[in-house]
Amino acid sequence: MRFFAAGVFGTTKILFQSQRRGLRASEKLGCGFSGNGNNVAYVAGSRAPLNAYGLRKNQLPNISLQDRPGPAISSSYTSSLGFTVQTGVLPTAYSYLIFKGIVSYGWPPGYWLLHGLIDKVNHLISLKANQAVILNTMGFDLSNGKITLDEKTGEISFTPPEDPLLSRKIQTFQRLAERLGGVLFMSRFRSTSVHLLGGCIAAVDSSSGVCNPSGQVFDTKIPGDKISSTETHPGLYVCDGSLVPCSVGINPSLTIAIIAEHVSRSLVRETLQYKAENPRIESSFFEKSAKKAVNFGKVSVGISETMTGFVGGMKCIAHLKMEMGVAEDMGFGGGERKCGETHSLLKGKVGGYIVIRALERENLYILDGKVDMCSVDCRSPYTQYMHYNLLLVSASGSRYILEGKKIMNPYLLGLYAWKELTNLHITLQKIAQNEPKFRNGNNFENEKVELSGELHVSALELLKSLVTMKGNQRGRFIFLLLRSICRTYILQRPRGCLMEHIQSPNVKQKPYPPSLHHDVITEDRVTISCRQWRPDENIWRWDGERKPYPVLLINGHSTESFWLPTEQRDLVRTLLENGHETWLLQTRLHPLHPSNNFTIEDIAKYDIPAAIDKICEIHGQAQKLHAIAHCVGGLALHMSLLGGHVSAAHFASLSCTNTSMFFKIITSSLVKMWLPLIPMSMAILGSYRTISMFETSKQGWRHSLLKSIACMVPRYERCNSNECSAFSGFFGNTYWHENITPTMHHFLNKESLPRLPMAAFPHLRKICINGFIVNSKGQNVYLAHPERMGLHTLYISGGRTLLVTPETSNLANKYMRLHQPGFVHKRVVVEGFGHSDLLIGEESYKRVFPHFLSHLKTAEGEEGKDGGVRSIGKIGSWECLGARDLGFEVRVICGVLFLFVLLCYFLCC
Ligand SMILES: Cc1cc2nc3c(=O)[nH]c(=O)nc-3n(C[C@H](O)[C@H](O)[C@H](O)COP(=O)(O)OP(=O)(O)OC[C@H]3O[C@@H](n4cnc5c(N)ncnc54)[C@H](O)[C@@H]3O)c2cc1C
Ligand SMILES: [Zn+2]
Repeated sequence: MRFFAAGVFGTTKILFQSQRRGLRASEKLGCGFSGNGNNVAYVAGSRAPLNAYGLRKNQLPNISLQDRPGPAISSSYTSSLGFTVQTGVLPTAYSYLIFKGIVSYGWPPGYWLLHGLIDKVNHLISLKANQAVILNTMGFDLSNGKITLDEKTGEISFTPPEDPLLSRKIQTFQRLAERLGGVLFMSRFRSTSVHLLGGCIAAVDSSSGVCNPSGQVFDTKIPGDKISSTETHPGLYVCDGSLVPCSVGINPSLTIAIIAEHVSRSLVRETLQYKAENPRIESSFFEKSAKKAVNFGKVSVGISETMTGFVGGMKCIAHLKMEMGVAEDMGFGGGERKCGETHSLLKGKVGGYIVIRALERENLYILDGKVDMCSVDCRSPYTQYMHYNLLLVSASGSRYILEGKKIMNPYLLGLYAWKELTNLHITLQKIAQNEPKFRNGNNFENEKVELSGELHVSALELLKSLVTMKGNQRGRFIFLLLRSICRTYILQRPRGCLMEHIQSPNVKQKPYPPSLHHDVITEDRVTISCRQWRPDENIWRWDGERKPYPVLLINGHSTESFWLPTEQRDLVRTLLENGHETWLLQTRLHPLHPSNNFTIEDIAKYDIPAAIDKICEIHGQAQKLHAIAHCVGGLALHMSLLGGHVSAAHFASLSCTNTSMFFKIITSSLVKMWLPLIPMSMAILGSYRTISMFETSKQGWRHSLLKSIACMVPRYERCNSNECSAFSGFFGNTYWHENITPTMHHFLNKESLPRLPMAAFPHLRKICINGFIVNSKGQNVYLAHPERMGLHTLYISGGRTLLVTPETSNLANKYMRLHQPGFVHKRVVVEGFGHSDLLIGEESYKRVFPHFLSHLKTAEGEEGKDGGVRSIGKIGSWECLGARDLGFEVRVICGVLFLFVLLCYFLCC
């Protein structure tokens, strides 16, 4: 049940705001606004003994509050002109409030302000206080005023009703003031009313009013619907002056009181009827509430917490009030991902409000909020999350969803525990309003607001929360929380079921598009391979467009990132759907390749050129292609280009994820690279440098020893998979577990990576330490040739940094814009993604792949514009047309021209 009795402006405003939040209400809301034909005036400085003031200030202390008289009517006269004139008695404190409101008219002209001031001084020194009086006229106006809500400020404003008798009322006041011999203060142009009525008027149906005669708010079913409806929102009532549909002509408070009584009667009737119709629901509802109340009293813990920080660069303060142990089903979503149940006392409901003034002028109140202090995700069972899920609402009607996570990784024996415990990573998303916005006849979705940021709780605030904690279960709550934190950081024990045992929903797998396998022999007589997928020819024929260029994919170190048979939407399938012939290069770094001794330079020098030759062999030398490369694959491709092993003229575009000619890695990985861990590993490995990765595969003691050491190396996240532990021991975590599906995790660790070739590690170490590509001897031979990078580039980084930092793409983008300004260069940082999850993530198809597709399209468009000026048919011919040769030709032509001009000059002289 909801009653609104906030007066004409108050109730109408609340209903307007509710309407903006989705309440279906009549479009007559705000209409029928009346001032009851009021016009208020004030006469001061009369010679007559009016005695119109009530108590004086010095009398107040002797009279109790309830006995003090309020404003009162002292005389009343109903004129044959069609209105009533009344004089009013006010407590002394009141008069000047009204006086201030109406001093826009006075007599004698030009002196009203002076008169007003003199009167105020007189009043202050208690002289002439008895010689002023409030006058009010009252009757009927047209009740056609309108109250509206300003969308921007969230405040209401109104247009007053028309009053055909206003001029007569003014004349009456003037005549009265003349008789009384005082100065008249009143509004010259408009009525001033103390009897506001209407706004949520009662009517027979929703086409003519907001409520029915019993005060129930009409339900229009469709917001703003013009079709009349007599249906009402059950239990939603208005019971104040806003219901009155027109002027009543007399003082209205008793009429309003009667209306309120009438509404109360229907309300009682409705309640009794509901009870009679639903006896069971009623009793079970009361039982449930009672039970809840008992539980609440038994286990409740109340915590207040204030956090400050920034969301989308805007200052944000969160004042949260949490009641722990009261949530029945927290329902954080994510169904199958949730496991390792949290103790019920560590889960609760959240209230309070959030302040982001730059986004919403008003506070964002928490309409519904849940918190789970110790949730776990089966994908990363060693990591603990404090998870907040809040539904926020502002007075303007906007609604937001705030998701907050304190991510507690058992990394480096809890060295970061304090930071993780006090930092809340949040995302704030605006919920689209019901009604789409229309501009110029087009349907525009509400502007999307999706922000992320961090809130921080200071040590002082934390202490304050601890001290002010309420409830009879405080001790137990603190014990459970500490135990959970200790389990995460000190004992490092996993919670919940194993990642490997989670079954993905039974989606019917689409058969993987067939591919052709090509063996390619490189210049150094090594056999590598390429997979080729052809798109459905009809795709581009239907479009009537030119056939898009093929795409060459180059994986990162040993793991597969593009061709993921277990996933519904990997990059190979996405490219094929977009009409691109797709080639996957399987270099000597591929886990099944027998090579035991090679560097990344070998891939750049032999494998990549050989693959391009193969594509050109099929499509002709003039064929352009796009390249997409990840991590080490990207390093090799940049070496190929900058080292002059392949020409940029072959490429329509280059797109890289977490790689470039620069390679900046996170501090902990850099420290690992500085330490002689890789030379030691190589020494342990001996001559055979490829490690068997599967738990079940047989291996010698050297490899077993190295894998055991790798499993002990600290890393951000752990899971229960032995293969995953060993792999992330060598590299560090390459993906955030929560970003990839269990099937992907299984494919990655149990199917696609039987062996890990370690041969390229010493070269990789040199690149990591330098922060950019160097040759296998550690020399900087590549960066000096930016002129070889004449192609459109896209560099993508993960925003939730893991292994490789976003600095990698930033530096590359700057380098390209500086040295190759004639091409399109883009850089994207995708929030929430780490390293390889950019390509293998559950949401990669939504958040990352569109960047590739748009870049490929842009690049092809740009190529089209040039009319192929940049494309040169044969490998090597671009190199011959280097800047030096072109300069020489230009210099010869200039010299000849200069000699010719000189000759002409001498001849003329
Ligand atoms: C100076 C003056 C003298 C008057 N003299 C007379 C007289 O002599 N005789 C007579 O019959 N009438 C008189 N009236 C008119 C009469 O007082 C009103 O018509 C009547 O009180 C209106 O009743 P209501 O229930 O509609 O609203 P109100 O009485 O205004 O009640 C609304 C209440 O809701 C509260 N509210 C507003 N918004 C919110 C919110 N968002 N949340 C919670 N609470 C909220 C307000 O603070 C207020 O207490 C006078 C009015 C004034 C101003
Ligand atoms: Zn894992």
